[in-house]
Amino acid sequence: MKALYYDELKGYKGIKSGDLPAPEITDNEALVRVKAFSLNHLDVWVMDGKYPVQIPLPHIFGSDASGIVERVGKNIQHIKPGDEVIVFPGLSCGHCERCIGGHDNECSSFSVLGVITNGVSAEFVKVPAENVFKKPEGLSFEEAAGIGITYTTAWNSLVTRAGIRHGDTVLVHAAGSGVGTALIQTAKQHHATVITTVGDDWKAAKAKELGADFVINHKKEDFAEAVKQITRGELADIAVDHVGAATFNKSLSCLKRGGRLVTFGNTSGDEVLVNLRYLFGKNISIHGVYVGPKTAVFQYLKLFPHRLKTVVDSVFEFKDVQKAYEKLLSRQFFGKIVVKM
Ligand SMILES: [Zn+2]
Repeated sequence: MKALYYDELKGYKGIKSGDLPAPEITDNEALVRVKAFSLNHLDVWVMDGKYPVQIPLPHIFGSDASGIVERVGKNIQHIKPGDEVIVFPGLSCGHCERCIGGHDNECSSFSVLGVITNGVSAEFVKVPAENVFKKPEGLSFEEAAGIGITYTTAWNSLVTRAGIRHGDTVLVHAAGSGVGTALIQTAKQHHATVITTVGDDWKAAKAKELGADFVINHKKEDFAEAVKQITRGELADIAVDHVGAATFNKSLSCLKRGGRLVTFGNTSGDEVLVNLRYLFGKNISIHGVYVGPKTAVFQYLKLFPHRLKTVVDSVFEFKDVQKAYEKLLSRQFFGKIVVKM
């Protein structure tokens, strides 16, 4: 099968295109013909060799895809060849207490498709059949490819972990990132007031179109000061900080008593010095989030395409995959970057 892969961990410039054997499925798996896949920062950490696990090489990368079911194992009833689907990338054992209890992303064997296992940047991908969800009607394959990690992380962050409530004020960093666009929409679905940040003025109007109530250009003003002013000193209930070291303590300072901070991704670095007195003095909770469970997918997928929509920044051809990653690293995009098969 046609595949994009790398055989050394040297970043996106090491991506090659060629023929690799198509995967064989077991009785409980599905083989999906990939129509489109979307990029995540996770892909870059893995291909840069920064992910703290051994990556088997050669490696087909990528976690989020949409496609058409090609074949299913003989035990599978809920999907059939020809179904248009989304591939959910969270892999887990399926039978432990965490999996059965709807917390499969807390399974001791949880991993993300395309990290250790071969991913979606190929003509075909195989996954456990329970990872295949019917594509909501009215969504293109390009839009559907941008849903998996992005919306699961956003939903898990705000709804499951931070327990968003009607009327909460939510701070979302980096409105233009894929997850930023998902967080803004998810928060608005819960009738929150959304304050978001951008690093370029052209992104502000797009953030407002998505429903953000206030947009701060963090290059022009201090976002923590701005949050204080916008909320007239009341501060925010929830801050979702996927930037990490560069913003973490300031995000904490944006929270009112009882506030919740959500952390994942950490594109600017992982190590932060935190004042614990500040945390307990204000009853603040910190939630680490690694993707999310399949139950979240069932919950948010119903809201597509009318109440939630994938913001697709751009669609690249298969042969231009390196240009797609170049764009991801340039930060000059708004929403998801997609590669078409
Ligand atoms: Zn499990």
